[in-house]
Amino acid sequence: MTSEQMMKVAAESSPWSSLQRVVMGTARLRGQKVSTLRSRSQEAVNELMQSIIEREGGNEAFYVLDLGVVVDLWQKWQEALPGVRPFYAVKCNPEPVLLSSLATLGAGFDCASRAEIEAVLSLGVAPDRIVYANPCKAETQLKYAAKVGVNLTTFDSKEEVEKIRSSHPSCEVLLRVKAQEDGGARCPLGAKYGALADEVGPLLQAAQRAGLIVAGVSFHVGSGAEHARAYTGAISTVKNVFETASSLGLPRLRIVNIGGGFTAGPRFTEASAAVRGAMNAYFSGESSGISVIAEPGRYFAESAFSLATNIIGKRVRGDLREYWINDGIYGSMNCLLYDHAVITALPLACMSRRLNPSCHGLPKYRSTVFGPTCDALDTVLTDHWLPELQVGDWLVFPNMGAYTAAAGSSFNGFSTSAICTYCAVSYY
Ligand SMILES: *Cc1c(COP(=O)(O)O)cnc(C)c1O
Repeated sequence: MTSEQMMKVAAESSPWSSLQRVVMGTARLRGQKVSTLRSRSQEAVNELMQSIIEREGGNEAFYVLDLGVVVDLWQKWQEALPGVRPFYAVKCNPEPVLLSSLATLGAGFDCASRAEIEAVLSLGVAPDRIVYANPCKAETQLKYAAKVGVNLTTFDSKEEVEKIRSSHPSCEVLLRVKAQEDGGARCPLGAKYGALADEVGPLLQAAQRAGLIVAGVSFHVGSGAEHARAYTGAISTVKNVFETASSLGLPRLRIVNIGGGFTAGPRFTEASAAVRGAMNAYFSGESSGISVIAEPGRYFAESAFSLATNIIGKRVRGDLREYWINDGIYGSMNCLLYDHAVITALPLACMSRRLNPSCHGLPKYRSTVFGPTCDALDTVLTDHWLPELQVGDWLVFPNMGAYTAAAGSSFNGFSTSAICTYCAVSYY
């Protein structure tokens, strides 16, 4: 066999898909070791965590990022929403390997600040792959966007039109409209952003008078949206704006930005079906020439990260077991407050039958889990049933990728940004 043929055979017998190999290469280029997971399961993640703990010998909290999950979500997105280009919302989780993997896969990025734009540009992503999707921007940051060539942003007020006209007049704009309903979102956004129906005409005219090109319309149904019908209603609102713009004599709008709000799993199946249906219903006649983009954050980040925390303290009060761990409300678990998240923890030693078969069937105790800071608010779980654990044991939190480390602080000297992320790739 020639070496070329041998490589071909090796590639064919490799368990990795070409996308998985590309993403592994991206992570390695960033100096990351990429571990392999024997399956797409929490059990495999836990076994990796165990080996990291044995190898490193430390007891700091850490994340495992499964890039196989990201690749899989990317492929599911392409299948369910072909032609809808995702611009990953950086605020959800700006972990550099996640950003560079998404960049390699072909994503664009939703940035809301100078620092987020810098982070994305530093990956070698071209500025035309960024939407500056913050409807209210500081003037200095807008000037920075102008300097680096980020030329697409959102607005929902006349004041913003004026700022864009004076600081970045060549920037094209998307009118952010308020979605009719927030779709039962965990984090509704409509109270803060989005033009109301009677504001649409005057805002389009203000942009036109300012000489700005209105490229299209955007909305956000709210993060963690429960009801897919929210997309249907919002896309019908977008259609109305397209018609208003044309009746006011604006050049034809061409971008529909359906925002974020997606959660991976069955809800994504419903949401993507609603988007396809609404685009067909409202935009079928003019689909040529219209670009549809989206700004998913949670969808790509949430299920790709698991967090391992170390038990640093314990107290027994009657039947109650109380534990202190080295991450909490002021760190990754800020999601309990800001993202209204529901999280679960399981002891690492008990999560894999292979690691510890005797764990199963152990008696469980009503337990409280506290974070490390001296604030009583820093309580992670109450009335959680756990087997008896000791100081030095590990607790694992799955699905901790969205709105976790991104919004953590260093309150009381416990620095969220110091938490390490280890990369892995699962396949199936
Ligand atoms: C936060 C945000 C997103 C991401 O929302 P998800 O619910 O995480 O998908 C997208 N667009 C804008 C403008 C946002 O503010």
